[in-house]
Order: sequence, then C-alpha cells, then structure tokens
Amino acid sequence: MKKMIDTHCHLNDKMLVARVDEIVNNFENDNLLQAIVVGYDFISSKSAIELAQKYENLYAVIGMHPSDADKWDDEFATFLKDNLSSEKVLALGEIGLDYHYENYSKEQQEFVFVEQLKIANECNMPIVIHIRDAMGDLIDILRRNKHLINNGGVVHCYNGSVESYKILREFGFKFSFGGAITFKNARNAPELLKVVDINDILLETDCPYLTPEPYRGKVINEPKYVSYVANKIAEYKGVDVDTVIEAANRNTYEVFNKLREN
Ligand SMILES: [Zn+2]
Repeated sequence: MKKMIDTHCHLNDKMLVARVDEIVNNFENDNLLQAIVVGYDFISSKSAIELAQKYENLYAVIGMHPSDADKWDDEFATFLKDNLSSEKVLALGEIGLDYHYENYSKEQQEFVFVEQLKIANECNMPIVIHIRDAMGDLIDILRRNKHLINNGGVVHCYNGSVESYKILREFGFKFSFGGAITFKNARNAPELLKVVDINDILLETDCPYLTPEPYRGKVINEPKYVSYVANKIAEYKGVDVDTVIEAANRNTYEVFNKLREN
C-alpha cells in the first residue's frame, strides 16, 4: 500500500494531544506521509500551529468553526492574517455552516464565514469548508461571494448529494472523505463515490471523531485509520487502492500548494 496523507485531523484535540509523539513516530509503520492538523477556534488553531512547528510531518490549517462563531472578534481576524503566511499553515479552516445543534445564529455563522472568505482571499489561501445540514445556504452564500473564492479549497467530510457536488466543484473545490463512508448507514456513499472524479478526492480521518468500520465505537480515531477510508473508496470505485492513494496525494498537493512531499 502506498503512503497516505491524512488531510484533516485534530491531533490538537484533548483526546489525542498527549499521544502526538507516539502517533507521529509511528507514521512510517502506519504508511503515513503527513497529516494536516485543523483548528476550529483560537486555542485549537494556535495548538495546530505549535504542532506543525514541532513535527516535520505535521501541517496546520487555522480558522473559526461555525459552531464557535460567537467567539469571533477582531483579535482572531488579526491572528489569522498574522499566521496564514507561515510556511506550515496551509489553508484557512475549518469554516462554513452548521445547523445541526440548537441555538445557533444563522446570521452570525454567515457573517463569520464571509469574514473568513475575505481574509482567505486577501492572503491568497485555500479554504477548508465544514458543512452540516445547511447545503442550500452554503451554496447561496458562495454564489453571492464568488468574487472572494479564487484559491480553491476542500469540502471536508463530504456527504452531500451528487447535484451539490457538481455545483461545488465549479468553485474549484475538492472533496475529502473520512470514516463516515465506511458506516453501514452511509446510504448515499456508494453512488456518490462512483460519480465523484478521482481527481477531486482527498483522504481524511477527522480524528478523534468518526472512527471507520470495523473499529467504529471501539477505538478513538487517529490518522493511521485513514487506510480504511482509502480501501472503501477503492471498493466503491472498483479500482486498486494504490490508484486512489496516488490520486488523493496528487490532489492534496494541488489544493494545499504550500505542502511539500518529504
Ligand atoms: Zn474537523
């Protein structure tokens, strides 16, 4: 099996942060090249940068998650602008919309999302989009702000429709897939992955969440389980797993253009 990149993980999460040394030291054995640590607020974004500075094979993505939209302030905007140019910060994310949990403000989520689209555009950075239960509004906001989207990006943990995939790829986005596609209830995954172009696919775990089958509910997810995602995509597409990994790596280097093979 070829070596993989986990393009979306949260080694900055309290469930994993104490084990980062051990996890990174095992990359070679686990068939991993690199992993991208994604922030979702100030503390987790700072931690992502620190991990990327400490470990050669870790990189950072920094931003404010829609579920943390009420934490947005000028200080965070300045923090983003100051750090996006750092060599190991690859993109602005994860940003977007999340209407899953109660008591969110659509207006605040949109405001924070668009503010970050502006910063990404100003700094010529790709974005990493988180979208949950809000696909219609996401597409509307992207259409209204099309002038701000000039550097591509990734829609992470994509589980939308084939139709939304076709709309979103027109903005220049690629799509990352994680453990959810291995779940028995992932009903749209087989059809979706048959349609999604192999040149649009990235691999991720979103660990510590969404542990793939057969480990779902048994262990905390970590980057090494990305191999189960690669195998599942290969199965759905009816191709060799190395074909999936090679394409995913190429796509990853294309989107995150500061990322270098090592
Ligand atoms: Zn995430």
